[in-house]
Amino acid sequence: MPEGTMKAWLESSHLSGANATYIEELYESYLDNSQSVSAEWRTLFQQLPKIEGADLEFRHSEIRNEFKELAKQSHKTVVVSGSSDAKQVKVLQLINAFRFRGHQNANLDPLGLWKRDKVRDLQLSHHELSENDFDTEFNVGSFATSQDAMKLGDLYNALKTTYCGSIGAEYMHITDTDEKRWIQQRLESVQSQAKFSVEQKEEILKGLIAADGICKYLGAKFPGAKRFSLEGGDALVPMLKELISRAGTQGTKEVVIGMAHRGRLNVLVNVMGKNPSKLFDEFGGKHDEILSSGDVKYHQGYSSDFVTPGGNVHLALAFNPSHLEIVNPVVIGSVRARQDRRGDKVGDTVLPVTIHGDAAIAGQGVVQETFNMSQARAFKVGGTIRIVINNQVGFTTSNPQDTRSGEYCTEIAKMVSAPILHVNGDDPEAVILATQIALDYRNEFKRDVVIDLVCYRRHGHNEADEPSATQPLMYKKIKKHPTPRQLYAQQLDTEGSVSLDKSNELTAYYRKLLDEGQCTVEQWRPMTEHSVDWTPYLGHDWDDDYDKEISVEKLKELAGKLSTYPESHPVQGRVKKIYDDRVKMASGEKLLDWGMAENLAYASIVDLGKRVRITGQDSGRGTFFHRHAVLHNQDDASKYLPLQNIREGQGPFDIHDSVLSEVSVVAFEYGYTTAEPAGLTIWEAQFGDFANCAQVVFDQFISSGEQKWGRLCGLTMLLPHGYEGQGPEHSSARLERFLQLCADHNMQVCVPSTPAQVFNMLRRQVVRPMRRPLVVMSPKSLLRHPLAVSSLEELSTGVFHNVIGEVDDIDPKKVTRVVFCSGKVYYELLDQRRKSEQENVVIIRIEQLYPFPEVELQAELAKYQHVKQFVWCQEEPQNQGAWYCSQHHFRAAIPEGTYLTYAGRKASAAPAVGYMSVHVKEQQALVNDALSVED
Ligand code: AMP
Repeated sequence: MPEGTMKAWLESSHLSGANATYIEELYESYLDNSQSVSAEWRTLFQQLPKIEGADLEFRHSEIRNEFKELAKQSHKTVVVSGSSDAKQVKVLQLINAFRFRGHQNANLDPLGLWKRDKVRDLQLSHHELSENDFDTEFNVGSFATSQDAMKLGDLYNALKTTYCGSIGAEYMHITDTDEKRWIQQRLESVQSQAKFSVEQKEEILKGLIAADGICKYLGAKFPGAKRFSLEGGDALVPMLKELISRAGTQGTKEVVIGMAHRGRLNVLVNVMGKNPSKLFDEFGGKHDEILSSGDVKYHQGYSSDFVTPGGNVHLALAFNPSHLEIVNPVVIGSVRARQDRRGDKVGDTVLPVTIHGDAAIAGQGVVQETFNMSQARAFKVGGTIRIVINNQVGFTTSNPQDTRSGEYCTEIAKMVSAPILHVNGDDPEAVILATQIALDYRNEFKRDVVIDLVCYRRHGHNEADEPSATQPLMYKKIKKHPTPRQLYAQQLDTEGSVSLDKSNELTAYYRKLLDEGQCTVEQWRPMTEHSVDWTPYLGHDWDDDYDKEISVEKLKELAGKLSTYPESHPVQGRVKKIYDDRVKMASGEKLLDWGMAENLAYASIVDLGKRVRITGQDSGRGTFFHRHAVLHNQDDASKYLPLQNIREGQGPFDIHDSVLSEVSVVAFEYGYTTAEPAGLTIWEAQFGDFANCAQVVFDQFISSGEQKWGRLCGLTMLLPHGYEGQGPEHSSARLERFLQLCADHNMQVCVPSTPAQVFNMLRRQVVRPMRRPLVVMSPKSLLRHPLAVSSLEELSTGVFHNVIGEVDDIDPKKVTRVVFCSGKVYYELLDQRRKSEQENVVIIRIEQLYPFPEVELQAELAKYQHVKQFVWCQEEPQNQGAWYCSQHHFRAAIPEGTYLTYAGRKASAAPAVGYMSVHVKEQQALVNDALSVED
């Protein structure tokens, strides 16, 4: 088209807002097929500026929204004087460009070291606009201001202030329009500028004074001691205080915080209200005598209350080992337990806050796992506030090319469409505004949100480190850079709101509090009654006596309820057969199998009014098709859970197939159980060996949390284990690893071999007041073994037998060999001995390998004091299983002058062989070996 004709066409009225829908449809067809529109329109659309980094669909939908917005708001569709219609479209594009990419030109780095390219989309020229258009008024579309139209010059400034100031907002990846509009509204309506009263500013300043003050104080008093100072990220303190205060005002009753060691001492003293004198004592070497191992200062948790305009908020800072990011699922699990206890299904009353490092949030896979859990049924908590202390260094690694592959350290948050607010840590008012928006977003939409606090690290990784050895330029800059407190105090003085004299007075007052060893948090309150009392669970041991019996009548009643479901709920044929059998078991017509006994344990617990919570990858059905706690209607796919229909007022029965993860799920359930002592919480591995993906949780939390931090945990872990020829990966739950972690009666390791045993083991975990982790080597083929059955009477004793003696009628006098074993191999030994009618061997099962039941085993052995040959028989290779970790216990139990030998597979690098024929041969050999009495 000749230029003149095009101009005339553009000047016609086609592009007025009133035609928005029409234009939008045209644009849509153009995007599908550029030839489908006329040449005039094609030329125009081709000239539209492209937004880099946004995919076609995004551009399309954004533009469509703009057009729709224009069409809806007729008052905004007035063609504004002097503007050409084509330019109007480009102005809308410009607005959109700032929303998409403004953060890339925002002023985020306090050190000014970031080298960022100029973003072309943010330049007027890219949109064929120029300063010559500054005085022309344009319609601003959905840009959230009080005006429908603005001069381009004003709009451009407003866009720069909103999107390229101290807050860089990334939110255009959010797919939900309401959420996106909500954030636009919050940012654009105030142009990302906070307006705080003098009192509020003074409060922020006090936070910075405190953050700076404790670091300086500790640095002077304990030079060279490790404290992982917050310096550089000082804004975290006013930020957290604002977060808690605002949350309390909005109805939050508890806040659970998880963080690594960086800044923890600061948070303990200046947010949680830990008495500084206690911290100084710890620096001086004093410690709690109650804990057997204790932990370093910068791993410590804390509990307190914090007064807010909405009432007291209970604060819990989770204990955390040095393993970064692993505390996140622990915190979220703890929050879920608290919400469940409060009957809060949406997440109004308890708020999780997780604090991350920049290198860690990008580097650690568990972060992805927790984002993935954030909206999943079993794990959702109504959104987590995730704060990154982005000090731009991970130990000594600061170059983004070494720490990550994305532009920001927070890219992972986009997987759940979480908004990300990057904010300059040297602008505390922007930090507070970002915090308010983040919290309000979380409370409005019940989704995760990220605040990336861009700051720096004044010292090395710890205070004994010399950071300039590895980051010379950065540390040259940091040395000269004023502290956040100095900068803000100066700013407030200059603007005339708080004088420097007043700031100095506040600084001196803070220092006085430290000198006097007084709590520095005005809002601190002693813990009032909070929702759970742990005292009934303190000071118990595994062999404590407790009320355990349950009558056969009660069991029958529960079993009846458990095995019935509505007629209108047709279930799959194999499942029906299992339930038909359960009806017979309930009436006593048939002995109980594993699945029935296990479900009956849950029924008896919910009948006590206590909660049962089970998660794992196939928990509803059971990996090996034995549980069927969830019945799927074959016509409409609805679900019926007999265990949720035991009686009116029963305890909740929560069973969830989990996300396909181990580490974060186990950590979540650990967090849940350390916050909820009353019920039974179970994590079930699909196959036991998958538990090794959660090794860090077993090592750092489950096995040692009580000894390090005094935190009890009654988590039960069902780990399918047994050698059935399935190859190296699905045979062993790595029993040896758990036994190796055992000491101080820290946890129980059990290998139950009968349905009655599993029933009483699970009930014991709740009915007995002791709360310690329970690791169970749970069976696979035993689930259907004809001999692995029990009577209702056996269940009703309530006794879990740590040791089970010989069951056949064998005269002890004839016995010349005693075989000890655990688990499934027992049935193979029994079978072979019965077949060969051997009377000189007895088999004793050790059902609890830790704490080792010496007394019970010795009582059992009293009958065999004449015996000289004792054998430990196991399926696992010699370097695995219980042999190495437990043989000292077996040896201690056998009479003096006798000997103990080993019958099992030879040592092996792999847990099991991959060939069925070899497996069968090995299995037969070890059984033969165990039963072959020497002359
Ligand atoms: P929290 O609600 O986590 O802040 O805990 C409040 C108080 O309950 C703590 O100060 C402890 O005294 C006690 N407590 C919380 N969790 C546990 C636990 N897992 N084991 C023992 N005591 C606990």
